[in-house]
Amino acid sequence: METVAPYKEIIEIIKVSGGDAAKFCFQCGLCDTVCPWNRVGNFSMRKLIRQATFGLSDIESEDIWRCTTCGRCPQQCPRDVRQIETVVSLRRIATEYGVFPTSVKPLRTVSASLAGEGNPLNEDRGKRAEWAKGLSVKTFTEGMEILYFPGCYPSYDPRLKKVARATVNILTKAGVDFGILGAKENCCGESIRKTGDEELFKRLAKENIRTFIDNGVKKILVSSPHCYHTFRNEYPEFMVNFEVVHSSQYVFELINAGRLELTKECRRKITYHDPCYLGRHNGIYDEPREALKKISGLELYEMSESRVDSLCCGGGGGRIWMETPKGERFSDLRLEQAINVGAEVLVTSCPYCIANFEDSRLTLGLDEKIEIKDVTEMIQEAL
Ligand code: SF4
Repeated sequence: METVAPYKEIIEIIKVSGGDAAKFCFQCGLCDTVCPWNRVGNFSMRKLIRQATFGLSDIESEDIWRCTTCGRCPQQCPRDVRQIETVVSLRRIATEYGVFPTSVKPLRTVSASLAGEGNPLNEDRGKRAEWAKGLSVKTFTEGMEILYFPGCYPSYDPRLKKVARATVNILTKAGVDFGILGAKENCCGESIRKTGDEELFKRLAKENIRTFIDNGVKKILVSSPHCYHTFRNEYPEFMVNFEVVHSSQYVFELINAGRLELTKECRRKITYHDPCYLGRHNGIYDEPREALKKISGLELYEMSESRVDSLCCGGGGGRIWMETPKGERFSDLRLEQAINVGAEVLVTSCPYCIANFEDSRLTLGLDEKIEIKDVTEMIQEAL
């Protein structure tokens, strides 16, 4: 049965959309032409906006949870409708009412783990720095050049720990004076916010901000574009401004400054996948490519859907925690695109993208055909 959102929340939806959904959407459907869902299933942003405009949103529907917040439709919209804000607002209402369809049920465990342990993976807070075992990584203290904030997946996930370790190897080789916060680090909160849990986001953000200030942090190095996005664009809502740099930018900076020398040749054919939150949401397209081009012997092939047109991996907007059935995974399509362009390695710079691509690689039986690497892992090969 369709649930009609209560009056005060209809007003909220229209308000967060800046009134645009109500006033300006003229139902042209351009959003639907670029939405990756239309390659794998049936979802219409145009329809969702229309329902929100008239307060007829079905908050029990799977549809309000499909958007990965990839940012392709706002680019196309001739009326500047704020689709992502509208979707997140609908999710906020669903979260308040505790209405979660089957595919979204894992979010309950994720939220409990974030609230209790500061990570979404049901892992022990006390083990947050175990990825660094044997690397002689120091605890961050005031006055150090940079804080390395690996984020949740590189801290705990066995595949992504390799990215954190590669980053540390690069920093050590370049002589960077850096430290980590270990158990004092919390999830940045970016993705849980996109699922509509504003309260939990605020709690995580405030705890991180307090830790950064108490420890004299000024500059933060991150592995995840999601941490980058929220530290740079969302934490200033709390009246703070930290300097943030993504690992793909920082390695390029280190190479250019003559602090990092790439001595080994790597005869590999690669392609680069632009993560939505690094590319479309933050405009970082060149530094990862330029850093990779510094590796001698590397051949970089571009996929047709690259840079602003990059195809989402499916992991944004909290979808990394939701169940996406086989046949509906954008990452499967992306892997095929990478192979078709002649790449032996699909290089990217986001833990969610790597997790999704590794999953597709396994389920599609493509482990012999293509490897998945972070920019830092490629650079590490050339050290
Ligand atoms: Fe409405 Fe914009 Fe989508 Fe067109 S592209 S249907 S104006 S939201």
